[in-house]
Amino acid sequence: MRTACAIVGGGLSGLYTAFLLHRRGVDCQLFEARERLGGRILSVGDAQGTGRFDLGPAWFWPDMQPRLRKLVDGLGLAAFEQQTLGAVMVERFKLEAPQRYERGFNMEPRSMRLQGGMQALVDALAASLPSSRIHCNLQVSTVRETAEGLLELSGPDGARVAVADRVILALPPRLIARMTFTPALPEAFARWCENTPTWMAGQAKCLAIYDEPFWLGQGLSGTASSFVGPMMEMHDASLPDGRPALFGFMGLSAAARKGLGEEALKGAALAQWARLFGPQALDPVAVHLMDWAQQPDTATPADWEPPLGHPAYGVPAAFAALWSGRLILSGTETAVEQGGYLEGALEAAEAASLRI
Ligand SMILES: Cc1cc2nc3c(=O)[nH]c(=O)nc-3n(C[C@H](O)[C@H](O)[C@H](O)COP(=O)(O)OP(=O)(O)OC[C@H]3O[C@@H](n4cnc5c(N)ncnc54)[C@H](O)[C@@H]3O)c2cc1C
Repeated sequence: MRTACAIVGGGLSGLYTAFLLHRRGVDCQLFEARERLGGRILSVGDAQGTGRFDLGPAWFWPDMQPRLRKLVDGLGLAAFEQQTLGAVMVERFKLEAPQRYERGFNMEPRSMRLQGGMQALVDALAASLPSSRIHCNLQVSTVRETAEGLLELSGPDGARVAVADRVILALPPRLIARMTFTPALPEAFARWCENTPTWMAGQAKCLAIYDEPFWLGQGLSGTASSFVGPMMEMHDASLPDGRPALFGFMGLSAAARKGLGEEALKGAALAQWARLFGPQALDPVAVHLMDWAQQPDTATPADWEPPLGHPAYGVPAAFAALWSGRLILSGTETAVEQGGYLEGALEAAEAASLRI
């Protein structure tokens, strides 16, 4: 396959790059390693099909994220505010009962969620592109400059995937580090890739779907924090016209989670919600656990130890024009203003598409 621009990675950044290039009439082809699009964005439905819940990103902040706000509006997607009304629970010590705080917790700025889950954004972007431009189940593992000066992309089995004038790498730098480039890229570039943490890649989310929002009935918001675990931060995940649900971020390390295993973790999460919100928590309709640290197309073992704060992202000037500008870095970790966030994925896509 011959194309003007090959995009490697079908997360929000790669998809939005394809959307922008297609709108400008630029020939491009997108290659995604997984069987699905979205990357770190993943929303799951309940068995009744009443809506979708997010196991990856759930929130955006329209007042601070102009690109995302514009895109959500432009694609005709509906947003709603994160439920925070009601008291908050705090669990400090194992041997002490959780405490209830009536004043609650106001998210400032207000966090918004998308109807249909964040996946609605992915679906809408994909639907706006000809399906012939999108190729799932296609991991790109090598990029080689040919004698004619073109860029040849191949898969792990060595089979040629495409030949392009330019390549946009819309994936976390740590995943770029597992690819092979001929001629070789500078050693300093490989080090930068390996030292750039993939935002949230070491995290895991647990989601429990219920018949009744039993916490709201007790004047509780569904928000809780804990130093006991296994979850450290919990929130309401209900759908406005669908099922009630709760979600939490795991506080246990990736290594401890792997040691415990999925079923034990789910059981411990339900037991924690029961301590905080009552015994009805033990009777969910469904429970999901998504451990992003165990996803090889998101995380590497280096991501098992998350960074202590939000890293300063962006591409060092020395790597801004690899292979005379024909190998272009994208993905949220390359964004200067909001690197790590969904807005950063759009920011990176805009910058990359302008270089084509
Ligand atoms: C649990 C969790 C919660 C989060 N919460 C929020 C939130 O509330 N708000 C927010 O703004 N952000 C949040 N984030 C961050 C947000 O998910 C990311 O900023 C965004 O999804 C990154 O998009 P991306 O396209 O840059 O990267 P990715 O989504 O990682 O996409 C990269 C894609 O490249 C593919 N790929 C990898 N290697 C190859 C290869 N060799 N060949 C082909 N394809 C390849 C991957 O499969 C993937 O689809 C959260 C993330 C997680 C994990």
